[in-house]
Amino acid sequence: MSKINILNYTKEELGSIIKPSFRAKQLYEWIYKKYVNSFDDMKNIPKDLREILKENYYLCPLKISTIEQSSDGSIKYLFALNDGKTIESVLLPMKKEEVADDGKLIHHTRYTICISSQVGCKIGCSFCLTGKSGFLRNLTSGEITSQVLMIKKDNNIAENRRVNIVFMGMGEPLDNLDNVQKAVKIFSDPFGLSISPRRQTISTSGLSAQIKKLGNMNLGVLLAISLHAVDDKLREQLMPINKAYNIESIIDAVKEFPVDARKRVMFEYLVIKNLNDDIKSAKKLVKLLHGIKAKVNLIFFNPHDGSNYQRPEIKDVLAFQDYLLKHGVLCTIRESKGLDISAACGQLKDRQEKK
Ligand code: SF4
Repeated sequence: MSKINILNYTKEELGSIIKPSFRAKQLYEWIYKKYVNSFDDMKNIPKDLREILKENYYLCPLKISTIEQSSDGSIKYLFALNDGKTIESVLLPMKKEEVADDGKLIHHTRYTICISSQVGCKIGCSFCLTGKSGFLRNLTSGEITSQVLMIKKDNNIAENRRVNIVFMGMGEPLDNLDNVQKAVKIFSDPFGLSISPRRQTISTSGLSAQIKKLGNMNLGVLLAISLHAVDDKLREQLMPINKAYNIESIIDAVKEFPVDARKRVMFEYLVIKNLNDDIKSAKKLVKLLHGIKAKVNLIFFNPHDGSNYQRPEIKDVLAFQDYLLKHGVLCTIRESKGLDISAACGQLKDRQEKK
């Protein structure tokens, strides 16, 4: 019988498999808080149970294949799965300064980890390398959670340091909803990584039906929509999935999505020169988002080999942002991180495979 990845299980599932059930909490703490790499290191688990665990389960479904470190601090990982396929994840440390009550300046780092949910992707967005290489398979919940665990371990990030998770790597998370849902639960378990659902953002290309399904699950996660265009014709060109789920259906699904009182739905807008960077598009966007607690994130298109699109002018992106802000839409600009490494999703995997 082949062994099973123990990271696939929620604590409750483990409690029904391993007796007595309190051992599930201990196992979770060893795996997610004490970062052990072997069942033998789980000192408060009786030896006979450790032997059973070793016979039937394994702990780590990923191996680090390549790491690229950018001068801006972001670190990109290419992980090899047990079947030899590869996926990408990124650690994005953000340096912050805060003034303490006594007036002292405190420097601290906030971590965001961008993870993959599938090997490849079916959606086929025209600006994305992952989309171009097609779909291979869904990741299991253990392969999803393991990306965060490996990155925390590899960077000595203490178990109690807060991290944010964004499902924005390879794949469409809502096309693998069962495993993503389970991963959200595993991430948020207080005996495990203890990452509140409010720190987990699920980013989708806009599968309206699945957005509704996710909303009905009431997981408490944040939602991000990759919108990128304000009319269906351009969106179909950028994202063929728009033929099945047009802009109107996405906006309708978002309006029903449960949003925490202090949070907003994020609309990602990849700004591409001469395609969607004009004030006419900004006007349409304001109209589209009317009545939604939204925040728009403008992202500079990051050119890569084989792409026909161009990086927009800074002045046009600033004018776009200015229009949105003046018309009451919260809007930030995100510079692509890791421009000196393989910044675009799928780029590191693509480079390694061509070697
Ligand atoms: S941008 Fe996201 S949804 Fe679109 S093809 Fe790439 S991985 Fe898939």
